[in-house]
Amino acid sequence: MTGICIIAGALDGKLSRSSLELIGGARMLQGPVGQEVAAVLLGHGPGLAEAAADLHRHGVGRVYRCDHPLLTAGQTDAVLVAVEHVVRRTRPEVVLIAADTVGRELAPRLAYRLRAALATECVELGVEDGAIVVRRQVYGGRALATLVVRTRPAVLSVKPHALDVPQPAPVAGTVEDVSVAIDAGALPTRVREVLREQAELGLEDAQIVIGGGRGLGGPEGFALLAELAKQLGGAVGASRPPTDAGWVPVNWQIGQTGKTIRPALYIAVGISGATQHIAGVTGSRTIVAINRDPEAPIFSSAHLGIVGDYREVVPALIAKVKELKGA
Ligand SMILES: Cc1cc2nc3c(=O)[nH]c(=O)nc-3n(C[C@H](O)[C@H](O)[C@H](O)COP(=O)(O)OP(=O)(O)OC[C@H]3O[C@@H](n4cnc5c(N)ncnc54)[C@H](O)[C@@H]3O)c2cc1C
Repeated sequence: MTGICIIAGALDGKLSRSSLELIGGARMLQGPVGQEVAAVLLGHGPGLAEAAADLHRHGVGRVYRCDHPLLTAGQTDAVLVAVEHVVRRTRPEVVLIAADTVGRELAPRLAYRLRAALATECVELGVEDGAIVVRRQVYGGRALATLVVRTRPAVLSVKPHALDVPQPAPVAGTVEDVSVAIDAGALPTRVREVLREQAELGLEDAQIVIGGGRGLGGPEGFALLAELAKQLGGAVGASRPPTDAGWVPVNWQIGQTGKTIRPALYIAVGISGATQHIAGVTGSRTIVAINRDPEAPIFSSAHLGIVGDYREVVPALIAKVKELKGA
């Protein structure tokens, strides 16, 4: 048993950003786990060649490429078959998986099958005194638990956007095509149709995010936030109540059970600052809170606070931004 293996998904046709983030995680573990970083590349079609080249560009030497028509978005059962096949054959010490929609389900199922140690949704990976040490959020993001992982093999899932994409470090790597028999009839579930939102919000990649909460009072408030986001070149997200109420799509939700964001600027409007929400925004460089309640908990997480009714504050901000832009 040796080395680190990352599970690199190209299930949408191109290598996911979170797969590249795993390479950064693997580099942090190199040393006690050996030097070799390999990848199982999953997907279907011509995009896999570019994905393999991208892995080599970022320092992954050995790529095991699984190209199969069932290895597409959401097909976790098929992904599990392919990953288990390669991991049993190559026997890495540590398997790194992005805790995205597929990875959240894949990691525990793979760990069970391999009788491996499991740590999920890690936000930090490292080595202390020669041992693997990971940190993960607990109590709704209010605290970080530190786990020392001694058992091998170990399966670690990493929260998307918790780690940066590492700088390229090109190597002359190899690609081995692995043929995996996936019996569609034997899979317990099968994705038959994927419905996508018309507009791609890009919440997780936006450098400026405006989050709206229950305090907006209804979907109209989000139109105001959209105008501010447009002026600032940002994206709009939400706390859970507006998505539960159907004011905005569910994939706008930020927080423990929604998206994790790390923008340069996060503006929370009409959001109280519950720990489950804060868990998704702690990586923001600057947090600004707009809330009419001076005692709202959000102010203890924010770098800057504006106490006031958003219906007055946000239009004033829009006007100021327009003025500064000379519009
Ligand atoms: C297991 C679990 C998981 C959860 N996951 C998430 C998650 O991922 N993301 C998430 O967000 N929540 C999550 N929640 C819910 C979370 O606990 C809170 O209930 C939620 O975040 C509160 O949303 P809010 O701040 O928008 O609403 P509220 O707590 O109701 O706060 C509304 C705020 O708006 C302010 N306000 C009202 N009117 C105005 C106005 N006119 N101008 C300015 N301010 C105004 C009020 O002062 C108040 O502070 C989860 C809960 C559980 C139990």
